Amino acid sequence: MGKVTGFMEYERLAEANLPVVDRVKNYKEFVLHLTDDQAKQQGARCMDCGIPFCTTGCPVNNIIPDWNDLVYSQDWRGAIDVLHSTNNFPEFTGRICPAPCEAACTLNINADPVGIKSIEHAIIDKAWENDWVTPQVPNHKTGKKIAIVGSGPAGLAAAQQLARVGHDVVVLEKNSRIGGLLRYGIPDFKMEKFHIDRRMTQMEAEGVEFRVNQHVGANVQADALLAEFDAVILAGGAEQPRDLPVPGRKLDGVMYAMDFLTPQNKVVAGDTVPNQVMATNKNVVVIGGGDTGSDCVGTSNRHGALSITQFELMPQPPEKENKELVWPNWPLKMRTSSSHEEGANRDWSITTKELIGENGKVTHLKGCKVEWKDGKMSEVAGTEFTIKADLVLLAMGFVSPVQKLLDVFGVEKDNRGNAKATTEGLDSYKTSKAKVFAAGDVRRGQSLVVWAIREGRQAAKAVDEFLMGSSTLPR
Ligand SMILES: Cc1cc2nc3c(=O)[nH]c(=O)nc-3n(C[C@H](O)[C@H](O)[C@H](O)COP(=O)(O)OP(=O)(O)OC[C@H]3O[C@@H](n4cnc5c(N)ncnc54)[C@H](O)[C@@H]3O)c2cc1C
Ligand code: SF4
Repeated sequence: MGKVTGFMEYERLAEANLPVVDRVKNYKEFVLHLTDDQAKQQGARCMDCGIPFCTTGCPVNNIIPDWNDLVYSQDWRGAIDVLHSTNNFPEFTGRICPAPCEAACTLNINADPVGIKSIEHAIIDKAWENDWVTPQVPNHKTGKKIAIVGSGPAGLAAAQQLARVGHDVVVLEKNSRIGGLLRYGIPDFKMEKFHIDRRMTQMEAEGVEFRVNQHVGANVQADALLAEFDAVILAGGAEQPRDLPVPGRKLDGVMYAMDFLTPQNKVVAGDTVPNQVMATNKNVVVIGGGDTGSDCVGTSNRHGALSITQFELMPQPPEKENKELVWPNWPLKMRTSSSHEEGANRDWSITTKELIGENGKVTHLKGCKVEWKDGKMSEVAGTEFTIKADLVLLAMGFVSPVQKLLDVFGVEKDNRGNAKATTEGLDSYKTSKAKVFAAGDVRRGQSLVVWAIREGRQAAKAVDEFLMGSSTLPR
């Protein structure tokens, strides 16, 4: 613990953001990492608790008190080594993790938690600036070959871990670029894509082979992979979006959020996307109050939408949680993202009854208020309304993986249609099919980047044990 009285002396300091008027003019990141002095002071707020609840709150179990202390003493090299020991990609999580660790911080009981994510962000940026992120090339090869289907954070974490213990790892990706939702879901203004590119360079030097435009179950056959490789990890994500079965769903201008977000990321990357749907001068309605919906708000603002309204079916959460009841768990409370700060009307307890159009194009949305009792929803009489809607973006989450990926391997599914595999014990991450493993959203359902990294790491250890009888990889 760097400074015994730090938590009493220093306030939590949020990272600075570029002003809204400037940042909505482009797709660049706008969150500035802490300066060295600021990070030192924020690190000093850590109390180095006997039981570090932050570490258990973090899905990759980052050893947070240790790197807080190292940053306090300005040992940045030591800090990145500790951080990398549990997290392959802190530059992703330091930018886009919702930081469940901070909800679990002991200071959060009666004060503002340590700004853990901002310190993580500062450490990894410093490490890249100083060329401390270098390939860890294995000193022996095992001769074992592993195919990883999907290049999101789960696939990338698994690939890096397995390559570092000497296996030949091939990552197969159906898209033309590597990164999964990091690349084609999460907008550049939250995380620019050069972060993925430079990790790819590192991983290639470590021995990972990336193959793009490889759609397993379409132009690549599952049987061929099973014949060629000693193990296969399915890391294909949960790509099946939840639909909105209301009259008017098929009108032009009603689309899944991903069909709106992905083309924009491609355009930022320099691709030409014919017929890209733009929000420019449109009344945009986003249905769904989560991360994906918030990203649609941010992107619509950058397109220059006329108005943006976001509806959520669930009731408006409380402004503040009851900490005595929920700490150290992730609380349900009102969250306002940076995209919301850029401008949007938000409303809760709203259901969509109908989408209305003219000449095949959506023009209005008809909805009403709902109320929730004992987990059941009912419409509130007399609350019907109609609003203008030229573009309706469906951001109501993802129900499961695309079933075909699981079917071509013949793996058993759980009752939500995910690949069935436990995370504990001798069979961890193993599917019902011999030598086929599953990790990330394809196994746990729609989740977070940090959970995908955790599962990729743990699945890598399970595969290493399966192939070699034991493993030196951390779990
Ligand atoms: C718009 C949006 C914003 C988000 N924002 C955040 C955020 O801010 N913070 C956060 O923590 N989480 C966020 N998430 C969630 C997070 O992105 C996911 O939980 C995470 O990416 C899951 O990682 P994964 O590796 O399991 O799968 P994915 O990232 O989905 O990657 C799966 C990859 O597998 C490929 N694939 C699928 N099937 C095949 C096949 N048959 N053959 C070959 N390749 C295949 C896909 O093309 C994809 O590249 C967001 C999600 C979305 C949709
Ligand atoms: S990865 Fe997420 S939960 Fe873990 S320390 Fe970083 S911000 Fe916190």
